[in-house]
Amino acid sequence: MNNSNKGSIYNTPISPIKMVFSISVVLIILYSVVYSIVLPDEKEIISTDCKLYEEEWELVLDNGERLPAQVPGKVDAEFGEVVTLTTTLPPNICNGETLCFRPIWQDVDIYIDGQKRLSYNTKDTRPFGANSTMRYLFVELTEADSGKVLTYQFSSDSKYAGNMQNVYMGDRASIWIHMVKTSGLRFLLSLSLIMLSIFCLLITMILMRVYKKALPLSYLAWTILLCAVWMLSESDFRQLLFDNISILTNLTYWCLMLIPCPLVIYINEVQSNRYSKLYMFPMTYATVMLIVGTFLQVFEIVQFVQQVPFIHVGLAMSILAIIGTITFDAFKKRLREYVVVGIGVYGLLVTAVLEMLLYYYETTLSLGTVLGIGLLFLLIMAIIKTGQDLLVTEKNKQEAIAAREAQAKFLANMSHEIRTPINAIIGMNEMILRENEDDTIEDYAHNIQSASKMLLGLINDVLDFSKIESGQLELVEDTYHLGSLLQDAVLLMNARAAGKPISTHVEVESELPSKYWGDELRIKQILTNILSNAVKYTKEGSVTLKVSHKPLDKEQVMLVMSVTDTGIGIKKEDLPKIFDGFKRLEIDKNRNIQGTGLGLNIAKQLVTQMRGDITVESVYGKGSTFTIYVPQKVMDRKHLGNLKDSVNANRREQTAPEIRFTAPQAQILIVDDNNMNLSLMKGLLKRTQMQVDLVKSGQECLELTKDKKYDIIFMDHMMPEMDGVEALNFLRADTGNPNSTGVVIALTANAIAGCREMYLGYGFNEYLSKPIQADKLEEMILQYLPKDLVNLREEAL
Ligand code: ADP
Repeated sequence: MNNSNKGSIYNTPISPIKMVFSISVVLIILYSVVYSIVLPDEKEIISTDCKLYEEEWELVLDNGERLPAQVPGKVDAEFGEVVTLTTTLPPNICNGETLCFRPIWQDVDIYIDGQKRLSYNTKDTRPFGANSTMRYLFVELTEADSGKVLTYQFSSDSKYAGNMQNVYMGDRASIWIHMVKTSGLRFLLSLSLIMLSIFCLLITMILMRVYKKALPLSYLAWTILLCAVWMLSESDFRQLLFDNISILTNLTYWCLMLIPCPLVIYINEVQSNRYSKLYMFPMTYATVMLIVGTFLQVFEIVQFVQQVPFIHVGLAMSILAIIGTITFDAFKKRLREYVVVGIGVYGLLVTAVLEMLLYYYETTLSLGTVLGIGLLFLLIMAIIKTGQDLLVTEKNKQEAIAAREAQAKFLANMSHEIRTPINAIIGMNEMILRENEDDTIEDYAHNIQSASKMLLGLINDVLDFSKIESGQLELVEDTYHLGSLLQDAVLLMNARAAGKPISTHVEVESELPSKYWGDELRIKQILTNILSNAVKYTKEGSVTLKVSHKPLDKEQVMLVMSVTDTGIGIKKEDLPKIFDGFKRLEIDKNRNIQGTGLGLNIAKQLVTQMRGDITVESVYGKGSTFTIYVPQKVMDRKHLGNLKDSVNANRREQTAPEIRFTAPQAQILIVDDNNMNLSLMKGLLKRTQMQVDLVKSGQECLELTKDKKYDIIFMDHMMPEMDGVEALNFLRADTGNPNSTGVVIALTANAIAGCREMYLGYGFNEYLSKPIQADKLEEMILQYLPKDLVNLREEAL
């Protein structure tokens, strides 16, 4: 078995190619190394080398006296004093040979035999500042210049007034090649760091949007970007990239001044903001330095270049503070929280020290290269840390989602389980109320009715709350008539207020448009909640509902519904807590008033989901006004008119006889595993005189329906062995069954969002939620029964 495995790995057709590739690589490396050692340099053959200009120089004093001078070197000169140096050019100059100067902050004039060959002064092209910025200057020579006298005049308003840098001689290309060799790596490093830091910034921005949390990495990315721009703006190649390098050079100083802030912010955030107070010092210093320094430079009081030592103080302060806190954390064993970043900072520190040593002892290694590598190292470590943090966040998020889903599922199941018995209680009680003639029993039954409705309301609240918490509550929008919404709410308010010394008032603006697009049920839920609270928390007096609107745009209006009561009111200090979940105020005082403290929280969250708001004003002991604002799209601008009339009309309708039809020929089948539900349905349908068959399982339903055609089948969803959906599928698939295309209505205690769509999707014709309400049940039967079977009662028309 092992052998055959080995064979499959090593004996593939491309094995020989792999072998040839490996041998070739080894041979090429050997070739390069051996010949580089054995054969001599070719430099001598093609002389493209650029050389230091090493002729003798003389300093010309004002009185004409001449003194020998060292180039590179320094002569004594005051700020602004013009220094003149001369030299005799070599006797054998070729055409195209070039001299290259790099004056520091100096204005320069170059003459050959008294003839001006170059003048450098940026007075007219720089934004501000007293000196011309550093730049490579090239003076191209010809054979005719051989042995002539070169005069170099310069002046500066800075400490560099007497400085002379290296002068190079060679053709232009060889001078640039020399610069590539000495500072190309640094240049490439700065470009790569710029790109990397911008990339990091973009990624952190995207991650911040995704995870909705701030990522400290963005501050480090800013730090690295500033360092990289500083390195680039100091680069030898800057004059190849930018047309006006005077603009660029100011960036060097601003970058240096700004670096401490994002660096310290980053480290502080990684250290969980423990050392904010300490870090305030370097950050305040850097900020003040930035403002004052810029002011001094712009108004030419003190040049940026003169401010460098003060800028370094800011950098040093922040680096010392960072090193100090990290070392302190290491002692306190807190470094393990951010050990990766700690290593990164120590790495940067090592490179910074190395950089300084190289600067003082080894001038050929260009400034910033090693530091750049240190920065890159820190950035990589910071990226690793961010990755680790995000993994933890992601894990926590997944766990939270799983926990929330489990909770929502548990609540949905629990609500289903509790609804089933309540359904039976309410239904059975309804039958007692209908059939009973004894007053005492009727009283008991009314009490059972109100208690079980309370319990049902409570379950609905808890379910809504959990759905909102887990983000599962979806608004179901459709066109609705505001009149009927208000009418239902007012009826409920009146019913609740009945028996209490409370008068109810309704003031509806008559110009209110009548039809809107929105979630009618949820708006009704919000309004009835506020109305029933008003009645609940008012002992005597009045409750007034006012409805008006404000135009928002062409399509939308803001519906404003305010409920004012003369109740117990709310203390000022309690007002901010009133919309919190599970928050009941003055529990001692309100002990006898039932509630969960969820109603207002749900109402607030629902209105917020509709992009509206609820506000409350209250005077303790006098009463409260809750105002609901919901933006709604108007579907019909026809005025609503007088609500009172329509409410009264509705009241008359309510007193109409309860039974609307009989259908003695109609065949109905009810499938439910719960005996009580079966007898409840039978009881509810008794007065319609329909022929009702009852079965206890999907299996029995399939048996019975084989030979008998039913006009409507009511099918419970959750049943053991074969559930309602499976039974329906079998029924629909069995084309020989006379009921395969018949009307099947789902009966369920399932009350989660999107239920109706779900059941229609399964293939049911309709969906009826438990507890079954007699009027809804009858209405649905009327809709689906063949008309010739139905005897409508005259009074009901
Ligand atoms: P509850 O189920 O307790 O009524 P709500 O979320 O609807 O829960 O209300 C939260 C609390 O706000 C109530 O317990 C009550 O103390 C206070 N409250 C709500 N409406 C009124 C009102 N109209 N007058 C006085 N207090 C009110």
